[in-house]
Amino acid sequence: MSRPASATIHTDALQHNLAEVRRRAPGSRVMAVVKADGYGHGLERVAQALAGADAFGVASIADAERIRATGSSKRIVLLSGFFEPADLSLIRRLQLDTVVHHETQLAMIEADRDPAPLRLWVKFDSGMHRLGFDLADAERVAERIRALPQCAEAPVWMTHFARSDEFEAAATADQVARFDAALECLGGARSLSNSAAVLGWPAAHRDWVRAGGALYGLSVVAGKTGADFGLRPAMSLTSRLVAVNHVPEGEAIGYGGVYVARRPLRVGIVALGYGDGYPRVAPSGTPVLVGGQRAPTVGRVSMDLMAIDLSHLPAAQVGDPVTLWGPDLPVEHIAEAAGTISYELTCGITRRVRFVED
Ligand SMILES: *Cc1c(COP(=O)(O)O)cnc(C)c1O
Repeated sequence: MSRPASATIHTDALQHNLAEVRRRAPGSRVMAVVKADGYGHGLERVAQALAGADAFGVASIADAERIRATGSSKRIVLLSGFFEPADLSLIRRLQLDTVVHHETQLAMIEADRDPAPLRLWVKFDSGMHRLGFDLADAERVAERIRALPQCAEAPVWMTHFARSDEFEAAATADQVARFDAALECLGGARSLSNSAAVLGWPAAHRDWVRAGGALYGLSVVAGKTGADFGLRPAMSLTSRLVAVNHVPEGEAIGYGGVYVARRPLRVGIVALGYGDGYPRVAPSGTPVLVGGQRAPTVGRVSMDLMAIDLSHLPAAQVGDPVTLWGPDLPVEHIAEAAGTISYELTCGITRRVRFVED
């Protein structure tokens, strides 16, 4: 038998979540953000399951190429734009939309002599201070875009939120107000919202929402799971028990001996570790599911294996399936234990894990 570490991708959950995003943003078109291999769920399968979206958002031309190779002719947006003049011919050949967020990119388009059309999304910095033109330059940037002969179609004006997951904070409303004020005189479509804004900032939905995490059933809102917003997790990470051993009281378990049995323990060894993408920093006590019952990890997660306490589950035996996260064990809880967010965990599943669909 092959190694039992598996990621099961629930394509019906992806479709449910897309419908849920549409229900929450009924007046908006939906860009399904599928960067980082579909947040670790597998780009081609995600693109196929989310074929009902109005566009895909990616971070690299290589990812767009993979989507085109599936036969999809859907609109695809390069969310960080392009990096050198030669990219423009690839963008045209693959019929991609590109974000333009910086003077250097605008200059490359101005110097470009190919008359074939380009579709642009022009990004402004409204307060995140990562990518985007200064809003104070909005008029000048818009004039230069209008002057481009290859950009006859009006661009989509966009910005990105830094704190839209904080529904009570003023930061997002401030960003919206700054964006609106600076672009007041410009016609055309607008795109502001990521998943958290789809969930918490209806006034920011506008023409296009850009949803990533929500489509995979993930929450970025602290203390909440995707299920709290009616979303369904699209990934289950599972493996099996490959050993069940008795550890006497006073003995330490695993590397570094950091966990010491305070009573005799029945310890299960699961064939899954940080080499599969499970966070090594998850401390003892992080839950897994065995036969639907919770069991805590004990000791350090190692590369291929991890130990769990089965003392309260006398029926558990070698070969039993173990769930590391999934619909009945929110990945948000594992992420919280590991001091990170769910996105990093699903993105971090490694290539040796077998991917299956249901
Ligand atoms: C990744 C990304 C998104 C999606 O963010 P989620 O929180 O996953 O919804 C939206 N817009 C841009 C520009 C992004 O880079």
